Amino acid sequence: MKLRMTLLSLILLVSFACKNESTTSSLANYQGEESYSVIAGENKVGYLKTIISGDTINVDFDYKNNGRGPTMKETIVLDAAGYPIDWSITGNTTFGNAVDEKFNLTGSDASWTDATGSGTASVANPLLYVNQFGSPYSAVLAARLLMGAPESTLPVLPAGNVTLTQMETLTVPNASGEGELALTTYALSGADLNPSYFILDSDNRFFASISPRMVVIREGYEASEKQMRQLAENYSAERYQSLQKEYAHNYGKKVRIHNVHVFDSKNLKLTDAVSVVVDGDKIASIDPVDATGENEVVIEGNGGTLVPGLYEMHAHTGDNAALLNVLAGVTSFRDMGNNNEVLANLIEKINTGVLAGPRVTRLGFIEGKSKFNANNGILVGSKEEALAAVDTYDSLGVYGIKLYNSMNGDWAADIVKKAHAQGLFVTGHVPAFSNANAMLNAGFDEMTHINQTMLGWVLEPEEDTRTLLRLTAMKRFPQIDLNSAKVQETMDLFVSNKTGIDPTLSIHEKLMLSRNGEVAPGSVDYVDHMPPNAQRGLKVAMSQIADEEEDKAYRDAYKKIVETLNMMKDKGILIVPGTDLGGAFNLHRELELYTEQLGYSPAEVLKLATYDMAQYLGQEDLGSIEPGKLADFFLVPGNPIEDIKAIKTIGMVSSGGTFYYPSEVYPEFGITPFTGKPEVKE
Ligand SMILES: [Zn+2]
Repeated sequence: MKLRMTLLSLILLVSFACKNESTTSSLANYQGEESYSVIAGENKVGYLKTIISGDTINVDFDYKNNGRGPTMKETIVLDAAGYPIDWSITGNTTFGNAVDEKFNLTGSDASWTDATGSGTASVANPLLYVNQFGSPYSAVLAARLLMGAPESTLPVLPAGNVTLTQMETLTVPNASGEGELALTTYALSGADLNPSYFILDSDNRFFASISPRMVVIREGYEASEKQMRQLAENYSAERYQSLQKEYAHNYGKKVRIHNVHVFDSKNLKLTDAVSVVVDGDKIASIDPVDATGENEVVIEGNGGTLVPGLYEMHAHTGDNAALLNVLAGVTSFRDMGNNNEVLANLIEKINTGVLAGPRVTRLGFIEGKSKFNANNGILVGSKEEALAAVDTYDSLGVYGIKLYNSMNGDWAADIVKKAHAQGLFVTGHVPAFSNANAMLNAGFDEMTHINQTMLGWVLEPEEDTRTLLRLTAMKRFPQIDLNSAKVQETMDLFVSNKTGIDPTLSIHEKLMLSRNGEVAPGSVDYVDHMPPNAQRGLKVAMSQIADEEEDKAYRDAYKKIVETLNMMKDKGILIVPGTDLGGAFNLHRELELYTEQLGYSPAEVLKLATYDMAQYLGQEDLGSIEPGKLADFFLVPGNPIEDIKAIKTIGMVSSGGTFYYPSEVYPEFGITPFTGKPEVKE
């Protein structure tokens, strides 16, 4: 009897508990496992798996694209309302930095630890935690909470607010082949510069996170990944098209910028005070300071400096960075590799004024097929395919081609020969298992990333640079003897072939000198202007710095890079300014580094990034502020040839006679303006 009772009461107890657990848990309807594929450039490059049991979600997320990508495990415990009350994220970031992020909410005590350190808050009610390193899956948790919130907006931890916006509904064929699956797309904004986009099904189950170049999508629906990427491209384009409509000033008449000193990029000096007249997309005249004209818009320069638009020579164009670059005075891009379709659309929209963005000079990206290949441009499996890719790009009217890590180095000489015969410029990474000397002998016109050249002095022939090794092996740089025969042979090849170097020094600074909890050295001048989560992201090490020895190795390696570039500069090797970090504020840093560490004067580095690059690309109508040239320039209150930092405080930008005032636009990104709008008399 007794036993039976106990058994019965036990069964009752368990079922009650389960019922209670499943009934009270906000995850009652989501128990079980789900699997997702990560797809980049139409290739499956990873997965996301979730297991939901009771009020706990376990997430396993990993992808490898171009030989690198995050590996994350998350355990998330929700309260009955769906707020995460315990969250742990462990793993490694794309560039290898170890992650051990935690959040906990006990009663009214919230505490978290991320790469920037720890924080606490006392909260009257649960608040959503915005994580730093979690997978895209957590968007669904935010969405379920925001759906019931006023204005679909909630304050979040560590700081800021996030807003959910429903974008559209659509259906896709069911994976089972029967019927259709109803979906709704959403945007989540407020934490970062740009919204993130994702999709839920009619049960508010996570279906996909989407971006123009990569999706994480429910298994069985991989066939619709292109459609999903197109949606993200549309949403992003819509956002930027509406910003362009609102903040691009096309005055439709002459514009006079009154009382400015023009930076004469050819002669490295500032003019006396003048007024500059723009008519249409060109500079019409440079007049005496007190000259006036009929029926003009007058922008008051207030004695500031007018600088020609800057060139970012190592860009990967995206609509999200395009406008931010123009606002930072970067009016010309050399695109070093992209999804060709996405890029063609962007260039079309920029050229027709639908989107704000720099003028784009295209390099055709050619990558070899391998398990580590990047998923951009054209992938080739043979020399014949590589030579055919040269023709494809030639027919698209590109400026040149760029070869990448998984290319077969033995094909380079023939590829270069064909490209040169067709008047195409050639640059690139050093293909794995090859070295810089081989590419210089093959006839490269320029070499990309200083590490790609220097690795040839420290790697064994069989070591594979398609992996993170091309970053971690930089720890060997301190042992390089720059006066050794090996190094001098490479230097001599650069000189004799008149080959330039695109060092992307600022990304090396970030890779090797950024540390958890410290503002990255290149970001100190703008970090406080950024939205909360973006500020956090600027206080994270890019690489894995496990201990003091590794810390010292990377610091010494960075010093060796600077010594190498100084030697190259002294030998007359052209240094081509680009960042590979999205340009804008980072291009300002690249130029600043050249003045701080490579011995350029501020005037010399401004000439380099304007007049010299225009000449280098054969763009005669750009690079200086002269009558007849395209009206690409920006206004700063200060004097940038006295202090290069003056280029970081921009009041106005003209991009081909379309005027922008950063102080008007930055709030759309959650950025605090650096200076106000000049007086404009229309
Ligand atoms: Zn790049």
